[in-house]
Amino acid sequence: MKIDRRELIKGGLAAAGAAVVARPGEAQAAAAAAYMLNRSPLRPDAFLRLPPGAVRPQGWLATQLDRQVNGLCGRFMEVSHFLQYDNTGWTRPNLGGWEEVTYWLRGYVDLGYVTGNPTVLSTASRWIDGVLGTQASDGFFGPTGLRTSLNGHADVWPHMPMLQALRAHAEYTGDSRIVPFLTRFFSYLNGQPTGVFRDGWGTWRWGDAIDVIYWLYNHTGDPFLLDLVRKIHSNSANWVDGLPNLHNVNIAQGFREPAQYGVLSGEARHRTASYDRYNDVQARFGQFPGGGFAGDENIRAGLVDPRQGFETCGIVEYMLSHELLNRITGDPVWADRVEDLAFNSLPAALDPLGRSIHYITSANSIDLDNAPKTLGQFQNGFAMQSYKSGIDEYRCCPHNYGMGWPYFVEEMWLATPDGGLCAAMYGPCTVTATVAGGVRVTITENTHYPFTDTITLSLAMTGPATFPLQLRIPAWCTAPELRINGATVPVSGGPRYASTTRTWANGDTVTLRLPMRPTVRTWPAQHNAVSVNHGPLTFSLRITENWVQTGGTAQWPQYDVHAGSSWNYGLVPGAAISVTTGVGNLADPFTPANAPIRLTTSGQRIDGWQADSQHVVTPLQDGPIATATPVEPVTLIPMGAARLRITAFPQTGGTRAWVPQGANYRLQNRHSGKVLGVDGMSGADSANVVQFDDNGTADHLWRIIDAGGGFVKLQNVNSSKVLAVENMSTANSARVQQYSDVGSADHRWQLIDSGNGWMRLRNGNSGKVLGVSGMSTANSAQAVQFDDTGTADHDWRLIPDGSIKIQNVHSGKMLAVENMSTANSARVQQYSDVGSADHRWVFLPDANGYFRIRNVNSGKVLGVSGMSTADSAQVVQFDDTGTADHLWRIRVNTGGSGSVRIQNANSGKVLAVHNASTADSANVEQYQDNGTPDHNWLIK
Ligand SMILES: [Zn+2]
Repeated sequence: MKIDRRELIKGGLAAAGAAVVARPGEAQAAAAAAYMLNRSPLRPDAFLRLPPGAVRPQGWLATQLDRQVNGLCGRFMEVSHFLQYDNTGWTRPNLGGWEEVTYWLRGYVDLGYVTGNPTVLSTASRWIDGVLGTQASDGFFGPTGLRTSLNGHADVWPHMPMLQALRAHAEYTGDSRIVPFLTRFFSYLNGQPTGVFRDGWGTWRWGDAIDVIYWLYNHTGDPFLLDLVRKIHSNSANWVDGLPNLHNVNIAQGFREPAQYGVLSGEARHRTASYDRYNDVQARFGQFPGGGFAGDENIRAGLVDPRQGFETCGIVEYMLSHELLNRITGDPVWADRVEDLAFNSLPAALDPLGRSIHYITSANSIDLDNAPKTLGQFQNGFAMQSYKSGIDEYRCCPHNYGMGWPYFVEEMWLATPDGGLCAAMYGPCTVTATVAGGVRVTITENTHYPFTDTITLSLAMTGPATFPLQLRIPAWCTAPELRINGATVPVSGGPRYASTTRTWANGDTVTLRLPMRPTVRTWPAQHNAVSVNHGPLTFSLRITENWVQTGGTAQWPQYDVHAGSSWNYGLVPGAAISVTTGVGNLADPFTPANAPIRLTTSGQRIDGWQADSQHVVTPLQDGPIATATPVEPVTLIPMGAARLRITAFPQTGGTRAWVPQGANYRLQNRHSGKVLGVDGMSGADSANVVQFDDNGTADHLWRIIDAGGGFVKLQNVNSSKVLAVENMSTANSARVQQYSDVGSADHRWQLIDSGNGWMRLRNGNSGKVLGVSGMSTANSAQAVQFDDTGTADHDWRLIPDGSIKIQNVHSGKMLAVENMSTANSARVQQYSDVGSADHRWVFLPDANGYFRIRNVNSGKVLGVSGMSTADSAQVVQFDDTGTADHLWRIRVNTGGSGSVRIQNANSGKVLAVHNASTADSANVEQYQDNGTPDHNWLIK
């Protein structure tokens, strides 16, 4: 990748009048840098850090920092038991402690420095004093227990964020204790066995320490510090030659280490390696908008859908890495990437007031509830998407997120080695810095960027000074417009840093316009999904958000967020996109109501695209998608303002049908009452299939997949493998196993209605049926095939899992309750799939193969009006009183389509639609089981 994109801009200055143009050499000579340069042999960085506090947020950016002061980071000590000042090893070395205090303090101290908030500043100072007081004579500090807690040697991973906090404290306050303190600690570290660098979380994350070691070396010139960096690099994880680890936060932190080491080694391959690692990850796992990648713990091959989340720690650590790489390389693409994460992903990692947080943020995310997802959607089995304090549920994120905005603010402006300034990221702020070797300048950056396209810089200075001013032109901007004191200055499109060197004077004004327009990006690796950008913002479907406080307190609420409008839209290719501005609230932009910019384009509903039974959006499918639904206007809002969102959209207007993902089922044995599972929850080929108590593990769930010719495959939800017979045996008592779906004949089964609420599964290869070895009723008894001899262990029933929808095959409409009534005897009807709660039902297993079918909205169960046994009697909902008309059984249709009839226990008649109507609100009734198409239903 080309690294040096800076250019020197000349011209326009004659028109500007009084200014004197300095040649670069003269400017450099005249303007020794006021900020710390890398000391030899470290190679120079492209840009230099300004001390914390040099940049102050304004406008919408100040709102984010204010929210942080009053939200989780600023007040987390009130609730996090990890952050009790007198009860942690970070102030009392005999006590315990790990990364929580150091994560939190890193963000908290800089929150104080960028806001100047006196409470935060004084509290931060007290903590720093406490930490400094823990240093032992050999240089170690913090909890004594960490000296030996990692394979008998020291675990210094938790120290690394603390090092960054201590450096920031020194830069802000000039505290003279920090340099000797760090010298003693690094001296301790330099004497440790190599295991310290090889083990634990730290081995992936040593870049954090290298940054501070260089800072100290620039201060002191102690040669041992460079030896320490070499020791770290050669012993810690190798990010130079590939990805040594798959954990999302390790990647977000670790990939930058080679470029950091390259500052010492001077080898191009080290710098290149960080680019390569970033590209490796993004090319495979970052194929959706928002700047992150699919890392809902680890990156996992094939799990790359935009529903996969990126951990909040991943967001802020990736931002920090990109900020550092921007400084080292001077390549503006890193600053583009910081903005992508900051504007699109970070805001929605928290609730709008910043008082609760979630673990992962997903580009496509249509429900944020506090329920674990157990169907393999994510790697973790705990609830990750509702907003809460998360103190113990996911300790890292609520303690670590705090550095996100403060570091962003600090890195918006950087010093240049030749005495100038660089605007790296944009937003409303002021910066005060020393330029040209000693002149103080304050630049007010007046803008609502990224919600508006014009950035006005007003310079206030005590006298004229000659220095370069570098302005980042983002990659997405092809035709920037630059004016200095009203005079146009030519500037080329991005990505580049455009540099203007001149003699600047008090009152000078620089106006940079970065024209924005809607653009559509196609994601070929994501089934040809599309996303819509406007400048640095990416846009999401506006979904009505129903916020429900499910716990916590007023200050520390816990929220679920549910969709109150349809979300399953694709976008019409080539449709016009109109831009609406002048709406919302530019000072507080990150909610649907406040979004200051909205886009309108054309979309179509994709009826088959549904959430799964646990309210997780199902993955994208190959598009463009065939759609017959009407074209409608759809409103898009900035991704960062949308807590519920579709951001990667299917395209409509194609020829590919969307294949709905059906319901999951448990398969219950009539004889034993146990359900079919995989021994040991194995994911391996040839693992034995067994029966077990119905205890809710994911290997007890199966999907029914049409295999054609009247056959189905049964796919295990946990392993994705299908039900098979060992070695394709045709013998009695051959073991039934799971195997990869390779299409062999023993993977095909017929579902045969036994007529009594139960069914048999006949193997397509052997003709034998599924049973249990020895008719056992024990847990873990082996499933086998056997001649169809009619024993009770050959009978199974399908139990639909979770809340499902019941769709009429003839009309395509859903089983619903009239007007969403919650009253007894309300009529059951069919209705278009609009996603309302009365369309969802839960099958409650009852005796003899029957179920009660309960409506999710009303809590009442499906019955027949007046317990009638007549044809065309109205089907209604009623309290679950146990009458026989409340019992129904599933009768599986032959033909492999997965459709069923639903038969009433009292009347023997089946669920039907009055006059086989296809209209909305047609009544649902019972009718004799005579095979008309309106008697067939799909469970979805
Ligand atoms: Zn985390």
